[in-house]
Amino acid sequence: MRNPKVLIIYTGGTIGMINDPETGALKPFDFEHLYNSVPELKQFDYELEAYSMDEPIDSSEMNPSIWAEIATTIFDKYVNYDGFVVLHGSDTMAYTASALSFMLQGLRKPVILTGSQLPIGQIRTDGKENIITAIEIAGMKADNGEAIVQEVALYFEYSLYRGNRSQKISAENFEAFESANYRNLAEAGVHIAFNHNALYRTKLTELQLNTNFCTDLALVKLFPGMPIGSIAPLFDITKTKGVLIESFGAGNSFSNSAFEKLLMNYISSGGVVLNVTQCVTGSVNHGKYETSALFSKAGVIGGSDMTTEAALAKMMFVLGEKSDLVEKRRRLEENLCGELTKKRS
Ligand code: ASP
Repeated sequence: MRNPKVLIIYTGGTIGMINDPETGALKPFDFEHLYNSVPELKQFDYELEAYSMDEPIDSSEMNPSIWAEIATTIFDKYVNYDGFVVLHGSDTMAYTASALSFMLQGLRKPVILTGSQLPIGQIRTDGKENIITAIEIAGMKADNGEAIVQEVALYFEYSLYRGNRSQKISAENFEAFESANYRNLAEAGVHIAFNHNALYRTKLTELQLNTNFCTDLALVKLFPGMPIGSIAPLFDITKTKGVLIESFGAGNSFSNSAFEKLLMNYISSGGVVLNVTQCVTGSVNHGKYETSALFSKAGVIGGSDMTTEAALAKMMFVLGEKSDLVEKRRRLEENLCGELTKKRS
């Protein structure tokens, strides 16, 4: 069997940063520097190739057109490689992982995002282990010759997570991510132990590239005492096509007739409202408490146990699709690529 071929796509992030001598602040640097700082990469019995974005960025600068560039690069080069590793800043990595899972549906090869909390040039860096294991996973095959991982995943500090289930939870710890509502896909110890039952398998017959994302969205996080006047301008169909609400507990809201009216008017004029919970674990369950009745009444869609990152990316994807509103609402409730747990009816 030939050696696995892996493409490393470098977008920037702390992993490849250096200190600016003038300001002392960390700024992105080129891939050459990163590659030379990890001599272990030369020992891989994999064929490694690299593709660097024109200008490496801090991931706070990430946006849907760069997601489209990453996805298109993978799509165009898909048949030439066994797997892909995307080096990315950790700050918005969960958003990018979520977005790529919707942009690249029908994957049968791994797309593994990774990065680090400390630059690769620093002695205590977490970047080396992350990049080495991410590459290893990207080239791993089962006995039948198929890739073990066939989805967008995120590798950080010995754990592999489903991309659209992951969230950054620490600005400090090496263990910076978690997937609170879904099992980890693998743990890396002496061996890489996969949780085979948790791995996603597509039903699509070929890879699809969907880069037409709609970004006319707003995100509203409820808080006790929130003045409705402050969020009213967001529920305006001439400005937004969709609003994501982060609600309390199992999808609850304060009772407020002005809020209810706002939601009803927006939805009847064609706006889409999706509801996810502010809680780290658990799910939206409209109807469980009386305090979610206003959402059901107004036609707000329950986002099940999706993360905010996945819900935003999914709204961008679904609202960008050529379909009518009924279909869009149905798609938002569906499990499209492992991003939510479907309630058993
Ligand atoms: N600010 C950095 C970034 O997201 C942080 C990191 O990479 O960990 O690009």
